Amino acid sequence: MRVSWQERFAETPDVLIGARLRRTVVPVLDFAIGGDEFITMAGPCSVESEPQLMATAHHVRRAGARVLRGGAFKPRSSPYAFQGLGLEGLKLLVAARKETGLAIVTEVMSESDVPVVAEFADILQVGSRSMENVSLLEAVARSGRPILLKRGMVATIADLLRSAQVILDYGNPNVILCERGIRTFETALRNTFDAAGIALLKQITHLPVIADPSHACGHRDLVPALARIGIAAGSDGLLVEVHPNPDKALSDGDQSLDFAEFEAMMAALEPWIRLRGITAREETSDEHGHAGSCPLEAVG
Ligand code: PEP
Ligand code: MN
Repeated sequence: MRVSWQERFAETPDVLIGARLRRTVVPVLDFAIGGDEFITMAGPCSVESEPQLMATAHHVRRAGARVLRGGAFKPRSSPYAFQGLGLEGLKLLVAARKETGLAIVTEVMSESDVPVVAEFADILQVGSRSMENVSLLEAVARSGRPILLKRGMVATIADLLRSAQVILDYGNPNVILCERGIRTFETALRNTFDAAGIALLKQITHLPVIADPSHACGHRDLVPALARIGIAAGSDGLLVEVHPNPDKALSDGDQSLDFAEFEAMMAALEPWIRLRGITAREETSDEHGHAGSCPLEAVG
């Protein structure tokens, strides 16, 4: 007998598409995620310095990004690697938002940092290594900010949905899911990009889904191909690492695009986005009524 997705994921009923909630559209500044505009979030893995961040912000803005990414608090696999600029990094992100109008997404690693990160950022990122940290999920949910929830590197789709359900349970409906690659037996690349997972999430949940081709492959040469795959699989946007000089980056340089590579990728992605029948660039977004307010569809 065929088991329905509702039965299969019965533990997390509120994240599933239902009769009353077919699509969650997350409002951020003057645009929305999960609506009819494809949203690119781009920037360095880590905020390193003012010149690095400002140059990157201006460049990604011109190339069509809506959101500036950049880690101020960095979860690193090695305890001796660069751990981020902390509060100083948050202040630089705010300065970049002021100069460019880009929204800010940045990771919050600890419950105790949630108030300060929520004060500065427009979207709080819960990283792969934190996806199952329930007290962090509760704290970010209560902040009221939209949450970019990255799939854990060894998390199943059901695990990801459970974490999303926790955030909804604490009263925050603005959850954005992010596929960033998972660990498999394949070691040629940093991770295995679960494109089928994106297609499945788009089919069964009402939440926006973002593809992170950078962490998924770990090699800048492959980022544009994975971005195309993410778009074809139905993602609502991308999270991409960009650095003025990737070879000198303090973290994730191998997978970071330089400015020219990012610009070329963005131009090359436009026809793929248009094939989906959604908008690639902001100048046409007004036609779809997404400038200004974009309320959530009723939760019932
Ligand atoms: C990041 O976005 O830089 C990051 C640390 O991602 P992840 O949590 O997916 O490893
Ligand atoms: Mn990174």
